[in-house]
Amino acid sequence: MDDEILYQGPGYTIARIHKPETMIPYGPSGARPDGTRNYGWVDLRGRPDLVSGIKEAADSTALQAVLRELAAPGSPILSSGCEHHAFDRGENDPSGFRWQSGAFVVTAFDDGRLNRSAENHIALAKEIWDNIAAPVTWRVPMQYELTIEPLKTFFGQSDCHCLMLKALGYGQSKDQANASMEAALHMLAASLREVQSKIAFQNAWHLTVSCLNPSCQQPIPIEIEPSAEGTMLVWEDLPTKLPIRCPSCGITGEYHPRQVRRGKAIPTQ
Ligand SMILES: [Zn+2]
Repeated sequence: MDDEILYQGPGYTIARIHKPETMIPYGPSGARPDGTRNYGWVDLRGRPDLVSGIKEAADSTALQAVLRELAAPGSPILSSGCEHHAFDRGENDPSGFRWQSGAFVVTAFDDGRLNRSAENHIALAKEIWDNIAAPVTWRVPMQYELTIEPLKTFFGQSDCHCLMLKALGYGQSKDQANASMEAALHMLAASLREVQSKIAFQNAWHLTVSCLNPSCQQPIPIEIEPSAEGTMLVWEDLPTKLPIRCPSCGITGEYHPRQVRRGKAIPTQ
């Protein structure tokens, strides 16, 4: 099947390719003809402190910021390979920009079941773009390419997908292009932080609210399940209001599960 463009607009493309190019994890390999190296997969899950040791991101603070968001404890998304480069496109490039800098990070869901459905990655890509798009004023020449790809294997499991996050920056000089790319990556990192608080990637979303009865205030656990196993539960799918009966005092209060930040639901007043 041919590669498909799923969504496209100013500043972004969400695409899907059908040929597997990579696997998670992957091992190290020798030096490439261009002198760069593949150092192999580093397990950053829950270890943002290890990001400073990632050689591919050593001279990009913004790429490190993206990796740190993905490595945050409790992050449902893990990172695989990453890289960044600047290219001289020549003086007469039709874009008007001589230099292009690009960075990519391969991501997948930590919960391998969610990687079986490309739809989960498409939904994730849309959430990531929606959160970048909102505050953007396009003064900085930059572009995002979010690509859903099949994986050769995910920890030995076949039939899995990954999401390649790519940020591109343009400029008349290499420094300008790098600065544009860094700006794009910082916005990507901010989006990833927001997205992680809006999407439940587990089989159920476990929330805790405090009882609204002032003389009780006991914590009440809530479990919200997606409609089908292995399906990502998106924030927008949550009910706006949820009546819950407190098991301690028996009083029913109305809660607002959409106002969720990393597992805490804020009750409606
Ligand atoms: Zn109560």
